[in-house]
Amino acid sequence: MLRRTFLQSATAAAMMSGVNFGGMAFAADAAEDALLAPWTGPFGGTPPFDKVTTPALKPALLKAMDLLRGEIGAVVAVGDPPTFENTILAMEKTGGALDRVQTLFGVFAGTMSDDAMKALETEMAPIGSAFQDEIVQNEALFARIKAVYDGMATAGLTVEQQQVVDSYYKRFTRRGALLGATEKVRLKDLNQQLAALYTKFGQNTLADEENLELVLTDADLDGLPENIKAAAAAGADAKGQKGQYIFGNTRSAMEAVMTYSTRRDLREKAWRLFTNRGDNPGANDNKPVIVEILKLRQERAALLGFASHAHWAVDNNMAKTPDTAMALMMKVWPAARARAVEEVKDMQAAADAAGDKITIEPWDYRYYAEKVRKAKYDVDENEVKPYLQLVKIREGMFWAVKTLYGTEFKEISGPAVYMPDVTVWEVTRDGKRVGLWYFDPYARKGKRSGAWMNSYRDQARIDGETTPVVSNNQNAVPAAPGAPVLLSWDDAVTMFHEFGHGMHGLLSNVTYPTVSGTSVKRDFVEFPSQIHERWLSTPEVISVFALHVETGAAMPTALFDKIKAARNFNEGFSTVEYLSAALYDMKIHLAAANGEMDPAAFEKSCMEELGMPKEIVMRHRPTQFGHIFGGDGYSAGYYVYLWADTLSADVWEVFAEKGPYDPATAKLFHDTIMSVGSSVPADEAFRNFRGRDVDTDALMRARGFA
Ligand SMILES: [Zn+2]
Repeated sequence: MLRRTFLQSATAAAMMSGVNFGGMAFAADAAEDALLAPWTGPFGGTPPFDKVTTPALKPALLKAMDLLRGEIGAVVAVGDPPTFENTILAMEKTGGALDRVQTLFGVFAGTMSDDAMKALETEMAPIGSAFQDEIVQNEALFARIKAVYDGMATAGLTVEQQQVVDSYYKRFTRRGALLGATEKVRLKDLNQQLAALYTKFGQNTLADEENLELVLTDADLDGLPENIKAAAAAGADAKGQKGQYIFGNTRSAMEAVMTYSTRRDLREKAWRLFTNRGDNPGANDNKPVIVEILKLRQERAALLGFASHAHWAVDNNMAKTPDTAMALMMKVWPAARARAVEEVKDMQAAADAAGDKITIEPWDYRYYAEKVRKAKYDVDENEVKPYLQLVKIREGMFWAVKTLYGTEFKEISGPAVYMPDVTVWEVTRDGKRVGLWYFDPYARKGKRSGAWMNSYRDQARIDGETTPVVSNNQNAVPAAPGAPVLLSWDDAVTMFHEFGHGMHGLLSNVTYPTVSGTSVKRDFVEFPSQIHERWLSTPEVISVFALHVETGAAMPTALFDKIKAARNFNEGFSTVEYLSAALYDMKIHLAAANGEMDPAAFEKSCMEELGMPKEIVMRHRPTQFGHIFGGDGYSAGYYVYLWADTLSADVWEVFAEKGPYDPATAKLFHDTIMSVGSSVPADEAFRNFRGRDVDTDALMRARGFA
């Protein structure tokens, strides 16, 4: 999950998610008021996407901040001694208007961006950051929160209430609430500068993704699958370049060229375009941006009393220290690297056998991997794709969660959408509304790459029942008009992954918004999504929903068996690709404490030290590593996917033993993990399911590294 609006980058997301607006009246005459107002209509109200205009967003955001200032003023003005009710619960009820307009802003910035929207993001980033600091540095407010926190042991609070108090306290102290006045001013300044740099970083990457396309002609297409060609032709058509083929500089398009093109020069061209995003000379070069970010983060960490940004970032996670996270990564690295070296040998043998007379370079890897995959496992992506219709895979997801959790999905047409191909679904259980699910599956200009879940409204129960509204977003290549959309196996896995985040939001069953749904520790948040990936590969889903696009026949057992047999194929490559990036992330944030901040030089020395195979490159090179330089969210935290996968692998062993849809296991998983958000400490929630702490060997077994 990536939740990224201008205020949600670090700590304010949960705090801002108030749920009611206490009868505040809104004038109907200003366009911005429609963006602030409580959501109306059925389903507990839905986001007014049809009312959003870029010019209205700025005044709406500013007005919502003012409203929140007033609400916080009222909390602080209470004369009585601070209690959970008059301080923490009161804070939980603030910020509804800002939460609503932020949701709209986030959706438009992430999926409907244009020049005006980008300019607004740039303008609002430092304002949002300053506002966040203003709240955290509100001494009267913090004094009340601290008083509740200090008295927590004897106040008779429930575990959930203690989790909420702890969350508020950490949110404030991690942003400097305990600092003196001069330090606070400096901290505010650092956060504002960082917010502006994060925006710049993202925009530089996006510019290289949108401007540096690969334009091909008929003569260049050898090896490329029909659907990829058709999409590229449509892309050229849309730009008035009929007869040509335009491949955007995105992962799905460029990896398709690298996997299938028989032309080595084109594979190299695609690889260079893609891996050099943000690393090209000129206005969009992210290297100087990274140096600035590292410098400011180090200063901020020192100010807050941490040895490095990495120490600050991991302190609030399940891992607690960079050492613990590094230990897990380095436990996996040697086995992954050794496997990757073997895999490169297989690729070289394939190239030799074909008489290609080349030495494998990074741009050859995927092409020969596809050949080796075919030779060793006979799984041809083009044989698999016709069985993976987006619509059917979506039905398969619905079936899986219905069987596990009893939830049903029904498409509805009432709520406003921001693009006609976004669909909206009502989710019910036993006839009762659980929430709403929005699905935005296709790539388009102005939508950022990758896949993510977004919570439009968090589940809570502090003012009646507030049902959650979530969305899943992907970048599937749209089909030619009228043709069904086909997915790669990876895309189908991603759909189940994001749906796991979606269900984590939808199944939330807590009282306070701060601990709702996906508000869990960063190294826990990918656990529900990663484990949901595994339900795609169950025979129950494959035999019923992986249907051939033309014949309607189910995927043959032999083909599915091949996919399963191939599951650990290339596991060395993908683990090394990911883990090298995760190690770089942690190491450069540790090294910055010693003044090492040159992203390129450090990339080189870090990869040498790790013994990185030269045929593989980090999954995200530093200049395009939005997870860690596009915001604080995943910085010194890219390891969290591996950490979370140790949890998923260990839990999946129970499902594997009892059956993937075993009702008792599913119920226990729902009750201990999927529905509790962060109302229970992460390690305790895990123990409630597993009966013990996590066993990291399960991950080694799952990846075939045992
Ligand atoms: Zn995820």
